[in-house]
Amino acid sequence: MEDRKDLISVVAPVYNEDAVLDALYERVKAVLDGAGEMWELVLVNDGSRDNSAAVIARLHEQDPRVKGISFSRNFGFQIAATAGLDFARGDAVILTDADLQDPPEVYPAMLEQWRAGYDVVYGVRSSREGETWFKLATAKIFYRLIHRITSIDIPLDTGDFRLMDRRVISSLRGMNERNRFLRGMVPWIGFRQIGVTYHREARYAGDAKFTSVKKMLPFALDAITSFSYFPLQLATIMGFITAALSVIAILAVILIRLLAPHEPLLGQATTLVVVLFLGSVQLISLGIIGEYLGRIYDEVKGRPLYLIQDSWGLEDAPLGRFAPPSAVGNPGR
Ligand code: UDP
Ligand code: MG
Repeated sequence: MEDRKDLISVVAPVYNEDAVLDALYERVKAVLDGAGEMWELVLVNDGSRDNSAAVIARLHEQDPRVKGISFSRNFGFQIAATAGLDFARGDAVILTDADLQDPPEVYPAMLEQWRAGYDVVYGVRSSREGETWFKLATAKIFYRLIHRITSIDIPLDTGDFRLMDRRVISSLRGMNERNRFLRGMVPWIGFRQIGVTYHREARYAGDAKFTSVKKMLPFALDAITSFSYFPLQLATIMGFITAALSVIAILAVILIRLLAPHEPLLGQATTLVVVLFLGSVQLISLGIIGEYLGRIYDEVKGRPLYLIQDSWGLEDAPLGRFAPPSAVGNPGR
């Protein structure tokens, strides 16, 4: 065994989770102390409107291995997870939901694979509890779609629950995009990756946040636009198809004119249908370009990924991730 003990970081984004944080701490502690590990728990309060911040502060008082930051407002799961990974100091970092759907009892199996030489150990859900059929069905369609239209291999039935080696975390820090889809970014990084299956439990307490189509659609769009140009190519494909159809139609009209010069050409309805169809194809294509353009605009503005209001046990917590290093400390580089 190595002489220096590995530090294991557990990172959990927190949004209105005051009812679960104590239980999360107890279970992480039981598992990692039980395994004789040196560890820290990094909680990222993503602008909660309940008492999550106070609970994090109290847990930190109680046990300094619990560390935390509070954002100035809600920035969303992907950004909260990114901040947690920025501040975690572990040799291995485990990203988990705060609601105990990803049971800490899986950590030892993940650590075992990591020590066997794997850089990423992702959790593969063998079964899911307490989730609606709608969520299960849309998730299934979404991952099959992503699998088809992107070049990266996102393992099926995985979420964000995964262990990452320090060099994967460093690689992630070099990926500064604002529209972050970690489930795709980590496979993109490569290195040696492996899955461990686990039973995804029902949420311990509180309410699930990613339930409505309104919340899931932007996530899906970010995922697709981050990793695929297929929607853009769709416009080209549609263009070629309609061009081919037009050639056939033009030839048909010429033929009718030659064979029956005195017959009037009917087809007002046809004209209307064709115009409406092409009009909608053009509008949809514009919308698709708009989705990419808006994201390019976000990137170009170069705003900080997140803003921090409070921190516990993380003295070097800066105000924003990509603010100029001269203005504030920058953990990214
Ligand atoms: N979460 C977050 N910011 C948000 C929404 C959710 O940090 O804007 C956190 C939440 O506290 C939890 C994790 O993301 O730790 C997963 O959320 P949830 O359990 O609601 O999602 P689900 O399990 O239904 O996918
Ligand atoms: Mg959950």
